[in-house]
Amino acid sequence: MGNKRRLERLQRRLQQIVGHDFVFSCPEDTIPYSFDATYAEGRPEIVVLPGTAAEVAAVLAAAYEEEVPLTPRGAGTGLSGGALAVGGVLLVLTRMHRILELNKQSLYAVVEPGVVTAELQRAAARKRLFYPPDPSSAEVCTIGGNIAENAGGAHGFKYGVTRDYLLGLEFALPSGELITTGGYTVKNVTGYDLSRLLCGSEGTLGVITKAVLRLIPAPEARRTILAVFAAFEAAAEAVSRIIDAGVVPAAFEIMDRAAVRCVERYLRLGLPANTAAFIVAETDGYEDTAARLAREVAALCRKAGAQEVRVAQTSAEAEAFWRARRSVSAALARLKPFKVGEDIAVPLGRMPELVNRLQAIREQENIDMVVFGHAADGNLHPNIIANPRDGEEMKRVRRAMVRIFDAALELGGTLSGEHGIGTLKAPYLHRALSPAAADLMQRIKAVFDPKGLLNPGKIWADRDET
Ligand SMILES: Cc1cc2nc3c(=O)[nH]c(=O)nc-3n(C[C@H](O)[C@H](O)[C@H](O)COP(=O)(O)OP(=O)(O)OC[C@H]3O[C@@H](n4cnc5c(N)ncnc54)[C@H](O)[C@@H]3O)c2cc1C
Repeated sequence: MGNKRRLERLQRRLQQIVGHDFVFSCPEDTIPYSFDATYAEGRPEIVVLPGTAAEVAAVLAAAYEEEVPLTPRGAGTGLSGGALAVGGVLLVLTRMHRILELNKQSLYAVVEPGVVTAELQRAAARKRLFYPPDPSSAEVCTIGGNIAENAGGAHGFKYGVTRDYLLGLEFALPSGELITTGGYTVKNVTGYDLSRLLCGSEGTLGVITKAVLRLIPAPEARRTILAVFAAFEAAAEAVSRIIDAGVVPAAFEIMDRAAVRCVERYLRLGLPANTAAFIVAETDGYEDTAARLAREVAALCRKAGAQEVRVAQTSAEAEAFWRARRSVSAALARLKPFKVGEDIAVPLGRMPELVNRLQAIREQENIDMVVFGHAADGNLHPNIIANPRDGEEMKRVRRAMVRIFDAALELGGTLSGEHGIGTLKAPYLHRALSPAAADLMQRIKAVFDPKGLLNPGKIWADRDET
């Protein structure tokens, strides 16, 4: 049967499952779902928005029977191209946005996949609980997307990443079978840990329909510190001194000169003109602990040569410091039409070498690159902007990307700390995985998805042999 007729039949089946209002196929309705937060795009033929787990399962079963590829999607804020369709069906989970339970006694939340991360954080905070994973996109991105990418954030060093808060899952296999894994307890070694296998699988193994997430008691107090440095090396020195001193900040973010300049132009924060790096740190705990740790962080930054250190006196001031850090991506996107955000991570002790390697790559390849990231977990985001019409510049950008991946791998690190492989890093995966490991992973994929219909082209793609 022709592809067109098969799609028309599938569309009718999907309309029966979720109702006509939640199935789109006209270009004006599907185009808005053809982008994510990368420069790439991918147009679905059908967009479907189920409202329940049973509908998700039925949609998957129908697509599976008709042998049509299906891509799951949350809010589309991904930075590796994972939520972009390759034709076929785009299954959007944003209608499933209920927090089903927030259990203070047993410290967990049960949520649907389309819950926006910041909504969960706020709901937990109202009960004096804390959900620490905090991607900078938290106001928009969804818990399903966070689990699928194993999203991290500023709190990673002290509190870990999404995986560390995942107690249990309900997910649908490509065939439509609903599976429940894990449960409601922090300790659970009953069988293989399928929840963690799904976590970071980028929507290639199953579609998450419900999650049980661990919550912890909220710290009583927080302090936010901004330290400004005239040399990046001094900021790196401050990071080492703080970690050597055994101080564990709740969050610890760093930005280089190019990132600071870019944000300064965007937000007009009034930073000194010679700022070469800045650190935003947060301490937390009991009131006196948070305050004492903030004083220690401030003193260690000064000792390392900070030219200015401010401890926020109000929550509005703290928010302004954080806005500076969170605005880098938006500030950058205004400068040139093409932006690629890398996400390498290295063991903490290799950060100074990584920073030097990045500096050399920027100069030798003559590229527009800013570097920012999570100072204490070795996870940096070198972001390159370019003009896609300038073929010579794009060649240098591609060469720089490969050199950045190689630098991370040579320093014992990884291609992606938190954004995933998606389509954009797929051609480079073979540089990071042994053939045996890649083969085992692909055999796992085949067990979950024997027809290869779920999120095809993601993680696994043709190699880049450069
Ligand atoms: C400004 C900005 C800042 C960011 N900061 C951070 C950061 O600090 N840390 C970080 O880790 N990331 C960050 N990101 C990246 C992005 O926000 C995260 O990867 C987030 O987890 C994606 O969530 P989403 O709902 O937008 O998912 P989408 O982009 O829609 O999808 C991402 C992937 O998850 C899959 N997926 C989505 N929902 C499901 C589901 N229910 N079941 C199975 N698979 C599913 C998709 O197929 C895709 O592969 C940032 C992005 C932006 C634009």
